[in-house]
Amino acid sequence: KEEKEKSKKEEKKEEKEKDKKDEERERRKEKMKRAGAVYNQMNNKSLISEGSTVLGRFEVDAIIGGGGFAQIYKAYDKVRKEDCAIKMEHATLDIRRMKLEITVLLALRGCIGIPEILGQGKWQNGDIKSQYIVMQLVGKNLSEIRKALPHRRFSERTLYRAMLQILKALSLLHGAGFLHRDLKPSNCCIGATDCTRIYLIDYGLTRQYLDKGGIVRKPRAGVGLRGTIRYMSLDAHARHDLGPNNDLVAFLYTTIECGDGSLPWSNESTHDNIIKLKQAHTGEKLCTKQPVMTKVAEYIEGLSYHNIPDYEKLFGLIEDCNPPDLKDSEPYDWQYR
Ligand code: ADP
Repeated sequence: KEEKEKSKKEEKKEEKEKDKKDEERERRKEKMKRAGAVYNQMNNKSLISEGSTVLGRFEVDAIIGGGGFAQIYKAYDKVRKEDCAIKMEHATLDIRRMKLEITVLLALRGCIGIPEILGQGKWQNGDIKSQYIVMQLVGKNLSEIRKALPHRRFSERTLYRAMLQILKALSLLHGAGFLHRDLKPSNCCIGATDCTRIYLIDYGLTRQYLDKGGIVRKPRAGVGLRGTIRYMSLDAHARHDLGPNNDLVAFLYTTIECGDGSLPWSNESTHDNIIKLKQAHTGEKLCTKQPVMTKVAEYIEGLSYHNIPDYEKLFGLIEDCNPPDLKDSEPYDWQYR
């Protein structure tokens, strides 16, 4: 018995130390993100030159995107004879960030809705060192697609089918023990070859929320701000440690924005005003233009950190939002153009 108690105490101590390390890491990550953004802006230098071949297989083409940290290049996979993407990060950035992203992509390899990882490594371009991930190429994101639509919003015949795909990808991520923490329309992309498939991208802010035994880790107090202001949950604003429910709130806001064309706080810039509007718009009030979403909103808003969401129930609720005469083979809004 004594032994048991002792090992329990040790476990607790380990857990505490792990949390402490995590907190430190998160603080460092934030700092590095700011530094990375500044770096990218100031040194508009390519981390890799066009024509280079990585891992003897992937031939680098033009740069196609960039985030706070990364430069994204289109490349050609000489083995599969198809295009792919290379995400490169400057090596001075927190290496663990990309490591975690690699861990997630490897854990979810083969899962529908998650870009396939094809390789990883380190690169040096002159005196600039970087690390990279080679992955499946995806197409346009839902934010840019929405803005190009006539009313800047998706039809109900497209929206819920697309959002169900994102929800399924999210449930796989959560099932593997990870949170996304930055779900938003610009992180949801259509496939590059099959545009009826939707992919959830960017695992740079991910966090492991289940321990190895599949138990939800203890929430830490006063964590740093994570995610994108417009889509983050009130818990995130309050600097609470985040759970799967908070990814679902981001999913909810994403769905409302994609279907309404905006969110009630889209034109606000201060945290305080955004928080007030988020507090004032829940359930029915949030879903005035999409009443079919009310049940989804109420279910998600009823969840807390420790709840494992009932995804099957959520899939059903989203499916119920589809118009009754909708056929699965119907084209999506972006296929009409
Ligand atoms: P960061 O972690 O720096 O935010 P992201 O992973 O979000 O970087 O990538 C930045 C942008 O690059 C995305 O918004 C997207 O437009 C593009 N991108 C990212 N991954 C891919 C991919 N696999 N295929 C095509 N474009 C991509």
